[in-house]
Amino acid sequence: MPIQQQMNKFIQGIGASPGIVIGKAYLVERSKVRLPQKRINPEQVEEEVKRFLKAIQESRDQLIEIKERILDPEVSRHAFILDVHLMILDDEMLLQDTMDTIGKRKVNAEWALDLTLEKLDTAFKAIEDEYLRERRSDLHYVSQRIFRNLLGKKHDDITKIKGKVIVVAHDLSPADTLQMNLNHVAGFVTDIGGKISHTAILSRSLSIPAVAGLEVATSLINGGDLLIIDGETGEVVINPTEEISQSFVERKRRIKSMEREVLKYASLPAETCDGVRVRLQANIEMVEEIPSAKAHGADGIGLYRTEILYLNRKDLPTEEEHFQTYRRLAESISPASATIRTLDIGGDKFLANYSKGNEMNPAMGLRAIRFSMKETDIFKLQLRGILRASAYGNLRILFPMISGIEEVRQAKAILEEVKKGLAKARIPFQHEIKIGAMIEIPSASVTADILAREVDFFSIGTNDLIQYTLAIDRINEHVSYLYEPLHPAILRIIRSIVQSAHQGGIPAAICGEMAAEPAYALILLGLGLDEFSMNPISIPKVKKVLRISRFEETQSLVEELFRFSTASEIECYVRNWMAKRFPGDFIQCYTEDSKT
Ligand code: PEP
Ligand code: MG
Repeated sequence: MPIQQQMNKFIQGIGASPGIVIGKAYLVERSKVRLPQKRINPEQVEEEVKRFLKAIQESRDQLIEIKERILDPEVSRHAFILDVHLMILDDEMLLQDTMDTIGKRKVNAEWALDLTLEKLDTAFKAIEDEYLRERRSDLHYVSQRIFRNLLGKKHDDITKIKGKVIVVAHDLSPADTLQMNLNHVAGFVTDIGGKISHTAILSRSLSIPAVAGLEVATSLINGGDLLIIDGETGEVVINPTEEISQSFVERKRRIKSMEREVLKYASLPAETCDGVRVRLQANIEMVEEIPSAKAHGADGIGLYRTEILYLNRKDLPTEEEHFQTYRRLAESISPASATIRTLDIGGDKFLANYSKGNEMNPAMGLRAIRFSMKETDIFKLQLRGILRASAYGNLRILFPMISGIEEVRQAKAILEEVKKGLAKARIPFQHEIKIGAMIEIPSASVTADILAREVDFFSIGTNDLIQYTLAIDRINEHVSYLYEPLHPAILRIIRSIVQSAHQGGIPAAICGEMAAEPAYALILLGLGLDEFSMNPISIPKVKKVLRISRFEETQSLVEELFRFSTASEIECYVRNWMAKRFPGDFIQCYTEDSKT
């Protein structure tokens, strides 16, 4: 049965990276497909079995073709995995059981195969050997291929993207994203994830529009479908009519002209009308982003995420690689400073040889500074690289996921050890390099007064702080509506962190995505934050709102907000306040953002 083409179908997701693109869908196959479950008549059994065997044969041919196409000797060392998949396709139980189920239970091939897989899955789960048990994922991979062939969906291979396409996937890990040739990617569309998942952050920093949390994208979209995606509003249109395409092209043109208007603010100082100056810095993940950060008016790099150095490789970065990367960073941003965050692996980012994918709760597992304290050799290598690079510019070190004072002390002790080694070897470095703690775990915010005695600055990571304070998984689209930056708990926590920082005589910065929204930026200013760091493209609009506001009015606004008891009351008050204060300006992006 031919697959019905969706025409002009609108689906709503979460705007993860702004921008409108129109392009062909490129379906990444690890997607979960929705299976039609149908009862059949006895006379349809033979036809259904044939359909099933045809899908098996197609799957076999595809895997053989993929295997033959691998030319790179390094990659071909891993081709045995394709043999495992081919063996699964020949598995007697898989084939016979499915065919028997079609005949006996009179169900379609998809349903029958699903029932067989359930049995196999249970059998796999009971296996004691961990390696064999893990082969469940191969079974899953092969079965998704068979299902796709049954449904007539196209398969695509993540590494050989050609042309300019919109990548559609159930999920994309940061490692997946980086495996692709990003020159060929016009946009991303995923079933799961939200605004602050790492892939969303990466898309924003690369200026690639993305929509996440669509739930049904991979079920509804076929490879080759024409798509429009709006990374601001989270809208996706499948096979749009000419009229709809034109309306999006028009909107894109309007947004571009608004962007051009706001870009005028990039080169102006980040100063309120009543003379309060703040530092607006950029969050980046690659040195290549520095020209964009500067063009958008960044006053330094407030967060340099170092995970990319470690991802998509089997070995670890050497001290020399660390050093060269951070040196380029320091030199290209000089005389401004760059804050380098030490490895924040874990959560939704894993290292090839240290994968902790089996953790039940990765967001609360062995991640970030906890990982560094366990793998001290890896940590020391990175610290040596940072310290050596500090001789070439103005660098600061930031420790992620600090939960209490002991972690800071331990991390600093290791840093001292590394410094001693360098001093002994007469290698130059900045002896008084500033040390900061990310405040993104509730225990750190509650003990911020204690932490302030031990570090030179705080950087509030609201992406995680909101996640842990409100118990909202930052990548779970089902609870994203509860991810409320203006929750009274969050405002109170930020206020108390800033007070602790100032009483301890240190500055408080923010590097979570919250700072990138003009209305939130004003509230953060009123709460007393000293430094703001955000994705580069948001800097001009935040600069604009700061330049046309008075510090004193942001303080009064904050005072008002503390009178309310719910996030929605606060949201509503802020929206009205913005509309009144800046008629026709900012309100559009604020209401669109707040929908997510
Ligand atoms: C944060 O948690 O707010 C943050 C900036 O770090 P990341 O998004 O990399 O976890
Ligand atoms: Mg974080």
